[in-house]
Amino acid sequence: MAQERNWSQNHVFAAARIHRPASIDEARHLIAAAPKIHAVGSRHSFNGIADSGGEMIDLGAIDPDFVIDRDAMTVTFGANTQYGPLCATLQSHGYALHNTASLPHITVIGAVATGTHGSGDANGTLSTAVAGLELIAPNGDLVAVRRGEADFDGAVVALGALGIVTRLTLDILPSFDLRQDAFVDLPWETALAEFDAISSAAYSFSMLTKWTSPSVDRLWLKTVVVDGEPREVSAAGFGATSVATPFVAGGLEDSAALVTTFGGIPGPWSERLPHFRPDGPPGPTAQVQSEYMLPRPQAGAALSALREIGDSIDPHLIASEVRTMAADRLWLSPAYGRDTVAIHFTWEMKPAEVAAITQQIEDLLLPLGGRPHWGKIIHADAGRLAPLYPRLPDFRALAARYDPDGKFRNAFLDRHVFG
Ligand SMILES: Cc1cc2nc3c(=O)[nH]c(=O)nc-3n(C[C@H](O)[C@H](O)[C@H](O)COP(=O)(O)OP(=O)(O)OC[C@H]3O[C@@H](n4cnc5c(N)ncnc54)[C@H](O)[C@@H]3O)c2cc1C
Repeated sequence: MAQERNWSQNHVFAAARIHRPASIDEARHLIAAAPKIHAVGSRHSFNGIADSGGEMIDLGAIDPDFVIDRDAMTVTFGANTQYGPLCATLQSHGYALHNTASLPHITVIGAVATGTHGSGDANGTLSTAVAGLELIAPNGDLVAVRRGEADFDGAVVALGALGIVTRLTLDILPSFDLRQDAFVDLPWETALAEFDAISSAAYSFSMLTKWTSPSVDRLWLKTVVVDGEPREVSAAGFGATSVATPFVAGGLEDSAALVTTFGGIPGPWSERLPHFRPDGPPGPTAQVQSEYMLPRPQAGAALSALREIGDSIDPHLIASEVRTMAADRLWLSPAYGRDTVAIHFTWEMKPAEVAAITQQIEDLLLPLGGRPHWGKIIHADAGRLAPLYPRLPDFRALAARYDPDGKFRNAFLDRHVFG
């Protein structure tokens, strides 16, 4: 195979080939015949999580076949559908998802499998919307797992280790409108002292900053709008100033044309929850990312510790983003068992410098309970990660039952999950 890479080009896939079957039956035959195989989505992860020492399989060519169940309030569709078409389909029928990530280009199963998240104190990760899934087992059989069944909490955020997921069923809501507002210069003292008040001030919240900035560079609030209200969203109480544009000088300002509408203009959830528009790229590809999910009570200590090493971070940083998410019950979810604050870093493509600083940050944040994002740069091996995931032994047992010969195992899983 010509050397295929992930989206950011920082990982060359080792797999001999990537299959793109046109039907679930074709996928079942391929999987049954392969000694070793792993699923890949839209390749937006920044590590080898989707790679395989054998072959890879991408179900993105299979028709999504959207089925909306208005009584159950669910939608069922092909797992490798991207959020862009899913969100547009739901909105056109008057329905919504509870949340999205920053970009609509990723596949739904790619997001679900890694515990990908958006923001909002009351919003679980995107994986928490899953009500059921269907996967292809190593022998090609189809297996269904539904919420409430014994395996379910281990089978959703599964990193591709249990099988190749063909169809997903997600909870849906009635469609709703949101507005996005940007503010500048939120004083650090306020951000730290009133973090809970600020993060709960809107449906979804983000603080975007560099660490040596004298104040938090930007605050983004996504607020639900009902019958045109609220007409204004004020962050004056937090000492920040309202601005019309979402980006700051020296950061991602060149990407302003790529983002969804700000300036307090109401619009459907599908065009406000993602930061990026579906019809353009989600920022420059010359970037890599890392992120840590902290128990909420440790957020202040983590933010302060990062500011102390800001001089080492900022020379290689494009921007950081702080978001929140509600606790869940999914065993390998970054929010398992605890309300969570996520601290994210978008880095310039400087491999040696970024390897050094991300290791330093990981050494600071792991002892505070920080769980690394499964789809981004991770240094810690399974031994260091194990104390952060109380259900990891159960997940390993589940994987041994679903995949006894390790057909879906890869180098990433061996290093970071199974040990
Ligand atoms: C620009 C950018 C912005 C991002 N923003 C966010 C953000 O806002 N929030 C956040 O949390 N993360 C974010 N991420 C990270 C991203 O959401 C995750 O890396 C996600 O897993 C990528 O999904 P993907 O479709 O590209 O899957 P891939 O990276 O291709 O694969 C990820 C995982 O999904 C599994 N998988 C794929 N298909 C299947 C299948 N059919 N069956 C079983 N397993 C499968 C793979 O095996 C692998 O384990 C961002 C990444 C980028 C590049």
